[in-house]
Amino acid sequence: MNLYEWQAAFAAAYKERHPYPYDLPEFMPSVSGLGKCARQQWYRLRHLPEPAEPLEVQWQQDEGHDQEVIIWRVLRNMGYAITTQKRNLPFILDGAYGGHADNYATGNDLTERTYVEAKQMNYRRYSRVYLRGVQAGEPVIYAQLQATMHATGIRQAMLICIADSPTAVKSEVRQQMRYMKIEDGGYVHPLVYRELVPYNAEVGLSLERRGRGLYASAKASVLPRRELDPQAMEQPKRGEARAKHWQCMQAYCAFRDACIAAGPGGAIIEQHPVLRRMEP
Ligand code: SF4
Repeated sequence: MNLYEWQAAFAAAYKERHPYPYDLPEFMPSVSGLGKCARQQWYRLRHLPEPAEPLEVQWQQDEGHDQEVIIWRVLRNMGYAITTQKRNLPFILDGAYGGHADNYATGNDLTERTYVEAKQMNYRRYSRVYLRGVQAGEPVIYAQLQATMHATGIRQAMLICIADSPTAVKSEVRQQMRYMKIEDGGYVHPLVYRELVPYNAEVGLSLERRGRGLYASAKASVLPRRELDPQAMEQPKRGEARAKHWQCMQAYCAFRDACIAAGPGGAIIEQHPVLRRMEP
């Protein structure tokens, strides 16, 4: 086997690395996708042929999973009691969505049992969350937290974000941190962000309706309408009040060609409350 053949074999075998399958019923959306583009989720749920994500994307995701183990260890050292159940059965909100909530914490400054999510982020995403909070900075993650709390009855989530590129984050966020330091009178480590997110019933119900719409449209094979959200939005050119052409700004979407060919129309799915804009 030459090097190129060996690399191709490695990439193929890498796909089989996950120890357990993701076991939700057919066509059921997952919590992690509820806040993403509805049409992209529809294509996924309909099992349309999806090219594999580039190996470097998969690699980064695995780095994040590995880092979780370290985070749980550090949190335990801080006095939190952490339970991690990677092989937990999925929770399912009947007819709406499902997912896994594997990690819970109590102790230290937590007054109730709290669902914990740890995310590794590139410096742009990290800076956005750091400066604007998860609701405005990462609405897809916010939707995941709210939908999980809505379905499981847990009423508080703790999000921990780790920056994957310390030097880049420092240059973007350091200035802000100086101000934060003066206002708060404390010191915040620039590479780790923590936010406690309380359950919001209105958002939870809206996400449940969105999940039901997605599930029904995937089952009935009715394509959702294209949405204007942070991942699929129009970009007005300079001097234009609004864009003449729709352009999806998602950096990578396996279904881009099919989506453009299908045009904007389709079933209207309840919008994620943070993203209430649709393509005209
Ligand atoms: S190209 Fe954009 S709008 Fe179309 S499915 Fe992909 S993310 Fe959604």
